[in-house]
Amino acid sequence: MRKRRTIAEIAKRVERGEAVVMTAEELCNSVRSGEEIGFEDVDVVTSATCGVMSGTFAVLSFQVAERDEFERASKVSLNGVPAFVGPCPNERLGIVDVIVYGPSHRDKNYGGGHLFRALVAHEEIEVAVETVDGREIKTTTTLDEITFARLCSTRNAFKNYFAFVNAHENEVTSIFSVSKFKGPFKELTFSGCGELNPLEKDPLMDTIGVGTKILMNGAEGFVIGEGTRSSAEKPNLMGIADMHGMQPEYLGGFRTSAGPEIWTSWAVPIPILNERVWENVKKLDEEIKLGVLDVHNRLPVGETTYADVWRDFSVRFDRSSCIECEECPVASLCPSDAFDARAKDVNADLCCNCGACVHLCEGEAFSCNLGVVTLAGREIPVTLRQSDRRRASELAAILKQKILDGGFTISEPVARFNV
Ligand code: SF4
Ligand code: SF4
Repeated sequence: MRKRRTIAEIAKRVERGEAVVMTAEELCNSVRSGEEIGFEDVDVVTSATCGVMSGTFAVLSFQVAERDEFERASKVSLNGVPAFVGPCPNERLGIVDVIVYGPSHRDKNYGGGHLFRALVAHEEIEVAVETVDGREIKTTTTLDEITFARLCSTRNAFKNYFAFVNAHENEVTSIFSVSKFKGPFKELTFSGCGELNPLEKDPLMDTIGVGTKILMNGAEGFVIGEGTRSSAEKPNLMGIADMHGMQPEYLGGFRTSAGPEIWTSWAVPIPILNERVWENVKKLDEEIKLGVLDVHNRLPVGETTYADVWRDFSVRFDRSSCIECEECPVASLCPSDAFDARAKDVNADLCCNCGACVHLCEGEAFSCNLGVVTLAGREIPVTLRQSDRRRASELAAILKQKILDGGFTISEPVARFNV
């Protein structure tokens, strides 16, 4: 007889403190070590992903002036990042409703991702408003004064991400590199947290649907639908969460050679409902394919697996090896501005373990085994990871603990996706 459980049964076991909850990493390590572990042994597996996810925007509503001080806003920016005004005009209320896109930017170094992180860190934000009658209002605000602040995604938590190479001689700027992308086949960059990714753990969406409760950047949120361009082969999710509960170390700006992007994180519980779910949650990096595309035309040039690229999750810095170069390429190209060359210090909260510094540093002061991918006889070094497996692993552990402590309930989706 096929083994089954319902979400309600699992939720009851969680409530009674009887549920066995494992992170995807713990489960995969058990499978890898040959441990005898079966469907009966686990109720919930916590999955997570953290990385550059452009399809993210914030909806904010806040007071910028006294009631009746202006009729309507026509332009708004926050820390210089342009926002879309509306859709509600808030006529004569002194309030603005705005939408800010994650990839919108003030300049090549500061964009929506930086702004969202500053908001979540409760930093003071400069607000500039132009009104329809030609007035300019300058003020400041913080997240505490912003009554409504939701982060929404149009396409996050992809099942299959890609790796990129430049198959041509000419170097190009790209959102997939921090400096000019070198070719032909000189370097490889990739995204995705492999065996930790929520949609690698539940690719058929047997457990994930509209209303599934998640953690987005550490705050409780919900899946609200399928993401844009989501398909059975390449599903992704749309979600929402209140920015007031988010933690700044789980989101931020990410500078690429083509401008600023945003990185953000999700953690998703996978209740083990049946043997099909169980077989999928056990999948290891070595079984998860990673397609390699040419950055020019996005056409496939090969394939590898996540086992080739996830060998070492953390990047280390040895300050005694720093030779104090006149111009530090790490300080100027670190995508999250985590490295302070003068203080010879890495800000661990900002560092997203992307690994760019390992190849950029002239004194070999940074180390991490980033992996090498073999394509058509060529050995191509990984030079950039646009996902942070270490943080994803941390988030999966946080979600596990919340479930065990009774601070996060497993919710039943209210609608399923067509996969
Ligand atoms: S490139 Fe490396 S060695 Fe040179 S200053 Fe920067 S951290 Fe130090
Ligand atoms: S891994 Fe290196 S380049 Fe990447 S964010 Fe950290 S310090 Fe910066």
